Amino acid sequence: MAIHEGQSPEQWKCGSVVPIISLSSTYQLDHASTAPEGKYFYSRIGNPTRTVAERCVAALENAKYCYLFGSGSAAMVAMCHVLKSGDHIICMDDVYGGWHLLFLNIITESNVEATFVDATDINNIKSAIKPNTKMLWLETPTNPTLKVVDIEAASAVAHQQPGVIVVVDNTFMSSYFQRPLELGADVSLQSLTKYMNGHTDVVMGSVSVNDDELGKKLKFLQASLGVIPSPFDCYLLNRGLKTLALRMRQHMKNGLQVARYLQGNPRVEKVIHPGLPDHPNYDVSMKQCRGFSGMVSFYIRGGMSETQKFFSYLKLFKLAVSLGGYESLAELPATMTHTALTEEERLRLGMTDNFIRLSIGLEDVEDLIEDLSQALEKAVVGKC
Ligand SMILES: *Cc1c(COP(=O)(O)O)cnc(C)c1O
Repeated sequence: MAIHEGQSPEQWKCGSVVPIISLSSTYQLDHASTAPEGKYFYSRIGNPTRTVAERCVAALENAKYCYLFGSGSAAMVAMCHVLKSGDHIICMDDVYGGWHLLFLNIITESNVEATFVDATDINNIKSAIKPNTKMLWLETPTNPTLKVVDIEAASAVAHQQPGVIVVVDNTFMSSYFQRPLELGADVSLQSLTKYMNGHTDVVMGSVSVNDDELGKKLKFLQASLGVIPSPFDCYLLNRGLKTLALRMRQHMKNGLQVARYLQGNPRVEKVIHPGLPDHPNYDVSMKQCRGFSGMVSFYIRGGMSETQKFFSYLKLFKLAVSLGGYESLAELPATMTHTALTEEERLRLGMTDNFIRLSIGLEDVEDLIEDLSQALEKAVVGKC
């Protein structure tokens, strides 16, 4: 599907096998009307290169509709526009740092009430539901502590109240390893910036749904909020998707090998990877995911000093935010991505000064392990 869905050469007059980048902002009409069915009208409303990428992502998510946005954050903002003043939203307590910022600064100001819960325990969702609850926002596995939520069970509980929309941020898994809509969620949202594009050169987001009414609403929001991706970025995303399966299998293989290596290293206090049998939600992962991405988090033995030294000794791993690209990255959530949280909240979620997040890339895994090994050896001295 990643290779063929939406790609048919017949859609272009010249039969181009590779999708064309349509840069035109406007399209010639047959007669004076707005947006005739199946025709292009104005590039913000619809663009042929964007359509190619949207069809491909929709197929991968097993969704009827997919809409692309200028970033994952723009997709989240569009989703929030579905809520009205006075509505209540239940949100996973451990979510993407930028979502906290967006939420605390924008959403709550529009008089939308929020309850943050640990959704790994379904009872917490159940007891948070109120008569005005309109949305359940999940992220699984979570960023960066890699907690796993049972999407099927959470959706079933939320749907006991008619009209509740279950949104799953699927960024950490990509559609290759997890399909939230098949598990009962209403919306699968992704930052395509990460695994789906996979080449660290595009910022984009997607919202995929099956419901006709919700699809119509999102199409309207995409066009009227105007937060669309450029045709060139749509081309790059579509190109990145061609190797999604190959990349994800390699991310999984490398990620598991690095996680197992770290687990056996005395300079490491604890490793978190949903594919390790000692992960508290291992059974849920095995039930709902077809594999694991390259995200590995761990606690280095020591504190801020050891962490900083570790980063400084890394050669292959780059100290940078973001994830899901072909290159391996390391970051410190406490000071880099999760600064919107209060210190108390951050510590409660386990993001201490020795908690490091790795995005394992596609390099030779022996090289990655060698790099981690030498950096750990120099950073953690006399503690083991
Ligand atoms: C990066 C990310 C986002 C935000 O996406 P952008 O493309 O950076 O706007 C949302 N959710 C998760 C889990 C992410 O990792």
